[in-house]
Amino acid sequence: MRTITLSTGKVVEVECLSCALVNGWVEPEGGTVIETKYFHAHQDVAYPIKGLIILAAKRHITCFDELTENERYDYINLLAKIRKAQREILGIEHVYYFYNEDTTHHFHTWMVPRYDWMYEFGRSVESVRPVLLHARNQKRGKEEIQEVKEAIELLRKALENN
Ligand SMILES: [Zn+2]
Repeated sequence: MRTITLSTGKVVEVECLSCALVNGWVEPEGGTVIETKYFHAHQDVAYPIKGLIILAAKRHITCFDELTENERYDYINLLAKIRKAQREILGIEHVYYFYNEDTTHHFHTWMVPRYDWMYEFGRSVESVRPVLLHARNQKRGKEEIQEVKEAIELLRKALENN
């Protein structure tokens, strides 16, 4: 069991946070963005970056080669669909994709939009962690969180009608 502190301050004990999220035992603060038979997309507002999406498998697997044919097809289509919405609705030009198999949770991909302020942390994979931490520690004003939530709502609506 792992103890996880949600951005609301609530402390929950779960075996796997991804399982808890995709099964609805833990509601992400921004809510679900889109859900299919095999995947679940949400934003963790603990990292207040507009348009940041976490795409998690519904099954408790960790490695890419564990995905079934149907899951692979669904995964790539969903990634592309979300990416398109990020571009069209939020004007996001570039996204970094981050996925590690040795996760303590299960299969999930971070889609981290790039904004101008992020380039001071570099342009490669090593900039992802400092960018997330900077957002979490410096960009958590009420207005900034509100903007992030509005962006989630816009993405959700765009993906619903697609
Ligand atoms: Zn899991």
